[in-house]
Amino acid sequence: MPIESNRKPLVIGNWKMNGSSAANASLLRGVLPLVSIFESVDVAICPPFPYLTTVADLLDNSDVGLGAQNLSEQRSGACTGEVSASMLHDVGCRFVLVGHSERRTLYAEDDELVANKFSAALHAGLTPVLCVGETLEQRQRGETRALVTTQLNAVLKVVGITDLARGVIAYEPVWAIGTGETATPGQAQAVHRHIRQWLADRDRTAAAQCRILYGGSVKADNAEQLFGQPDIDGGLIGGASLDVQSFAAICRAAQSEPASDSIAI
Ligand code: PEP
Repeated sequence: MPIESNRKPLVIGNWKMNGSSAANASLLRGVLPLVSIFESVDVAICPPFPYLTTVADLLDNSDVGLGAQNLSEQRSGACTGEVSASMLHDVGCRFVLVGHSERRTLYAEDDELVANKFSAALHAGLTPVLCVGETLEQRQRGETRALVTTQLNAVLKVVGITDLARGVIAYEPVWAIGTGETATPGQAQAVHRHIRQWLADRDRTAAAQCRILYGGSVKADNAEQLFGQPDIDGGLIGGASLDVQSFAAICRAAQSEPASDSIAI
């Protein structure tokens, strides 16, 4: 039988490589008053690196958290162009995306690197948001669960189950990211349930606590149905996080009853 869990929904906006000082200020002027009233939802945004400090200032008097889109797996030193976990923590980040599919495909980040980044984030006091998900070809070949399991196992091997569950997991089917093609609530829930069960098989408390977000063309008009699924604890939002009304509507859709798992944890 499903049981009640107290996971608070989380919505994270991934601005990707978009924005400017003026555009960010204008976006946040619109978003902050609208999302601050949703006390039952945690909200965070991930701007590009150069804007982290100014966005941190703009978020200062709000409950909206700051996150980064990437980090180095190294702690410090001769790594030109890289940004460490402790630097992100130092400028006020609470979250960092790890293994986003655009990093995996455009910048050849493999499972081992992603796992080391996850570990570096945790050690610096950040909450890593581990992105997992299959390509269209992998889905068509029926490999979705195996692929997601492989991606989770790589992180498990480096940090162990307790630390893995201290992060957030984002299931993002690659074919749905930025394409306008969204997984149906049923398709998304099936993979989220698989992830929850994978966690529960290793640590039932971790499974009950870990937030699993869905990402991939979430919009104002599909968010409620997706977030209504028992194992979907919010969303990782790309394109729609750049629009005040859309992002606010998505955050509103995440306000909900406490999550009820599909499996007895
Ligand atoms: C993302 O960038 O993680 C994402 C899900 O993008 P979009 O919402 O635009 O599909």
